[in-house]
Amino acid sequence: MKDFIDPFGRSITYLRISLTDRCNLRCVYCMPRDGLQWQPRAEQLSADEILRVVETASRWGVRRVRLTGGEPLVHPLIVEIVRRIASIPNIEEVSLTTNAMLLGRLAQPLADARLSRVNISLDTLDREKFTRITRGGDIDQVWEGIAAAERAHLAPIKLNTVIVRGLNDDELPALARLTIVHEWHVRFIELMPVGNTQDWGDGFPTPSERYVSVQEMRAQISAFDIQPVQTVIGNGPARTFRIPGALGTVGFISPLGEHFCDTCNRLRLTADGKLRPCLDNSNEISLREAVRLGQPLDDHYRQAILNKPQHHKMLATGPAGSQRGMSQIGG
Ligand code: SAM
Ligand code: SF4
Repeated sequence: MKDFIDPFGRSITYLRISLTDRCNLRCVYCMPRDGLQWQPRAEQLSADEILRVVETASRWGVRRVRLTGGEPLVHPLIVEIVRRIASIPNIEEVSLTTNAMLLGRLAQPLADARLSRVNISLDTLDREKFTRITRGGDIDQVWEGIAAAERAHLAPIKLNTVIVRGLNDDELPALARLTIVHEWHVRFIELMPVGNTQDWGDGFPTPSERYVSVQEMRAQISAFDIQPVQTVIGNGPARTFRIPGALGTVGFISPLGEHFCDTCNRLRLTADGKLRPCLDNSNEISLREAVRLGQPLDDHYRQAILNKPQHHKMLATGPAGSQRGMSQIGG
């Protein structure tokens, strides 16, 4: 199997799959209070159909697959999907991004199905604020999920924190401090203008007012004297540092201020069966019809890679780069 190189010299080895647009939380920066207009189930790919897409992708050089959403753990066949993807020849790693609400009971079955590791979203350490940001989530379930992931050796564990001005931008030092005693990799992420243009309620209308750059984030934890380290497994676009003597690391992901498009190695598959070349780019290629007719998917796949733009055009203070929200694209 050879890598497939896009027109800008990038090997496309990584596929992010949104298993569902549905979610058991409603984070204020990701969805409106009442949720989105869910895609009809008949329009979403079935487990068998997803498997066919991954098999095709694996023949075109994809070696790592991440399952996301929406919330991937609400998919009723999540364990079976992981098991089947992990057994595709050439697929070296299956990982998952989750809010961890259901991870307490699923971590071990997922590990048994050969899931490699998990990224867990955690935007605050404050119980009440967690419930407010997620509109109903229980932070104790996240801690249970993290403990279960550790017991199941789903490592390295990464904690993803989107920093939002006025919401959790006072918590960087406390979150960074977690890495001193835990072998966790906390990654601070810039808020992106994806889909969230409307008034989504709870005082969260415009991301541009809420954007915090990674430079500002770094300044907030300057007292820790963080030192650059070699990239942690699968830390992808994060710039990674360590507090001297700490077990874990602190990373910064700057899709806007210091974008990483030159090394972008990914394609996205949306829950409704579209290959999306770039987060910001709606130049999607639908596979659904071909997959349902049992036709080969290679031409679609190749075209999606050829459609990858050199870089995205999102601006921190600009309009939304995409009409589709993060949960629909597969954040
Ligand atoms: N539900 C899962 C979760 O929350 O981890 C997976 C899907 S969620 C869309 C994936 C990641 O996207 C989460 O870490 C979430 O915080 C992040 N996210 C959602 N909207 C975002 C935005 N506008 N800017 C930056 N990150 C965002
Ligand atoms: Fe759901 Fe994840 Fe979006 Fe929060 S960030 S609403 S958990 S999809």
